[in-house]
Amino acid sequence: MTVGVHPLAGFDKLLHYKVPESLRAQVQVGSLVRIPIVNRFHLGIVAEFSEPKDFPVERCKPLAGLVYPFPALPPDLLRLAKWMSAYYAAPLDGIIETMLPAAVRKAASLKQEKLLVVARQATPEETAALAKRAPAQARVYEFLRAQPRPVLKSLALDRLGVSAAAIHGLVTRGLLREESRRVERVAYADDHAAGEHVAAQPHILNAEQQAAVDALAEALGRGGFGVQLLFGVTGSGKTEVYLRAIQEALAAGGGVAFLVPEVALTPQTVARLRSRLEAIAPGHKAVVWHSMLSEGERLDGWLALATGEARVVVGARSAVFAPVQDLRLIVVDEEHEPAYKQDETPRYHGRDVAIYRAKLCGALCLLGSATPSLETWANAGSGKYGLLTLSQRIDDRKLPYIDVVDMRVEAMRQRGAATLSRKLLDAMHARLAKKEQIILFINRRGYSSAMQCRKCGHVEECPHCSVSMTYHRSDETLRCHLCGHQRGAPARCPSCASPEIRWRGTGTQRVEEAVRRLVPKARIERIDTDTMQKKNRFREVLASFRAGRIDILVGTQMIAKGLDFPNVTLVGLVDADLSMHVPDFRANERTFQLLVQVAGRAGRGDRAGEVVVQTFTPEAGAIQFSRHADYVGFAQTELKVRRDFGYPPARHLLHHLFRGPNPEKLRFFAEQWKKRVEESLGEQVALMGPAAAPIEKIQDEYRWQLWYFCNAPVTKIVAEVARLRAAFEWPEDMIQVLDVDPVNLC
Ligand code: ADP
Ligand code: ZN
Ligand code: ZN
Repeated sequence: MTVGVHPLAGFDKLLHYKVPESLRAQVQVGSLVRIPIVNRFHLGIVAEFSEPKDFPVERCKPLAGLVYPFPALPPDLLRLAKWMSAYYAAPLDGIIETMLPAAVRKAASLKQEKLLVVARQATPEETAALAKRAPAQARVYEFLRAQPRPVLKSLALDRLGVSAAAIHGLVTRGLLREESRRVERVAYADDHAAGEHVAAQPHILNAEQQAAVDALAEALGRGGFGVQLLFGVTGSGKTEVYLRAIQEALAAGGGVAFLVPEVALTPQTVARLRSRLEAIAPGHKAVVWHSMLSEGERLDGWLALATGEARVVVGARSAVFAPVQDLRLIVVDEEHEPAYKQDETPRYHGRDVAIYRAKLCGALCLLGSATPSLETWANAGSGKYGLLTLSQRIDDRKLPYIDVVDMRVEAMRQRGAATLSRKLLDAMHARLAKKEQIILFINRRGYSSAMQCRKCGHVEECPHCSVSMTYHRSDETLRCHLCGHQRGAPARCPSCASPEIRWRGTGTQRVEEAVRRLVPKARIERIDTDTMQKKNRFREVLASFRAGRIDILVGTQMIAKGLDFPNVTLVGLVDADLSMHVPDFRANERTFQLLVQVAGRAGRGDRAGEVVVQTFTPEAGAIQFSRHADYVGFAQTELKVRRDFGYPPARHLLHHLFRGPNPEKLRFFAEQWKKRVEESLGEQVALMGPAAAPIEKIQDEYRWQLWYFCNAPVTKIVAEVARLRAAFEWPEDMIQVLDVDPVNLC
């Protein structure tokens, strides 16, 4: 008997192996196996039972081992991997690697899986002596004693951060024994998300929630694939609807994946979800899945799902690959979030992959948002997706009033560019007097966006990237936000030596400074990637804001997402134009989403909220529609624009980026390539470019780009482009990256 195996790393090819007698009963499609390639062992996934076509069966080597006694990639994931490989024109081995957490692969490739077994009870004297003289040993011993089952040595080391000497010491004392034996599951008794435990009584649903839940229960009962969009204004209680749907799916014996954007996956939200889930579906443990987990935790969660011990995963983008059994329901919260798109190979979109996985499993995919992506909205409009609407906030709380301040008028009034308008300042004073809290958003860190000479107009740019340097006042530097290059801020113009330098644009630091100057009594904190370098600092600041020890929080949109502060009654958006005037056809959509999300942060408690938006272009559609949170009106207008220009969702779009040290060469080859594509695909695709990318140079590497607007099915175009690309003679020093359905265009 032979099997075809996909090796995990570096070989995009199916290889054949014999299945030894001892493994026959266990090897299945999807099994993770050890395979010999030349003189080394690698990992691979069994893809099929078949015989080699170009190779005599007798010459196949035998499999070297089976890692887990169950399929590491269940059939639906294996099929999903193949689909992704074709859809995103990405190598299959890389996709399989993305699907299997590093911890799973690492534990599997250990040559000898040593297990640590507690050999005997320590006497009280021994315990005391250990605690005093060998604290590391004491820690290891205590940890292992608390585990219900033996633990992998490598994982214990990783988890406890002790050296192998500590374990050796315990073995010498006769307290521990090392054994070589296959683990079935590594369990950790101390649970990871020991967050706050919110008392979690299920709410009584309002009529709209009930109608949505009924429709979902009906769809789940019917079974089979479907997509539903839960379109609910901020604060309308979407989470409650998700939880009820999850309850239904679990009660029917199915598994569930719940995806949220990574930034929203705070310990607080996870703890809240877990306790709600436990209240609603007793006995179900939710596995948490995100990038901050230790390898031990990750492996533990993966095993719990793969063995069917746990049936729910809550996680960020990559949780769409969790080996949930009998998947019935995938929830994608905030489905419009760009964070669902991975910006390295494989460049997949978590939401789209979720939909396809649901299709493969015959499951229901539930997308939720207050501001759905236009792609999703168009699909709901055409009837491809079901539409469930929550139009009211819970308890009919009012959506906050949005006040738009025209900064052109303000500049005249204040005689010069102002950071904070009179209106915003007055509102801040009024709220502070009532002991209410304020959040100010500004979507740029640093002090100002650019240094410009008043005399000659010179703007200082990064020498390695074609972007202006950002001024950071705290340490008097100019920094490049792309490559990190920095230099001292000059006192005179580097071009004409004039001392008349001014700072254009506003960043978080400048806002913080203005607030400190204008509202000196307030307690202020700033949150952006600069202040949050230290781990846990983000959490600390949010905790003290929640506890009321901070009056005003200034930050980038890092704080706009998923946070719920009942005492925040005023939100200011200092410069709404920052997200609008960028070369991206989704700029309006992003701005509208940002405005609505930001506004949703105000007045979540029982007090009415207020939002002040500062802009130089108050007439812009994204701003006008957001004043009344009129998503439907906005989407209608914007979809028309997209249709007129043939942008997504009217057509699929591909982005092809060419990178290299020599711009002329990039251009030449990009043009040759374009000709090749045109000859082969003709009218099926409309090409735009090649042209220099919006940021033409990053870290001394030039960037050119080509756009493809698909007039034929995207799968067909991608397949053809992938075929042509493999045959094209690319120069050695030119890197090219194809992005299907690109999301971040700048
Ligand atoms: P959304 O995700 O739609 O913005 P949430 O799910 O966060 O809204 O709900 C907003 C608030 O309303 C939460 O504090 C939630 O606990 C509460 N809530 C949800 N449904 C109900 C209900 N039926 N009755 C009372 N409170 C509810
Ligand atoms: Zn100058
Ligand atoms: Zn740079």
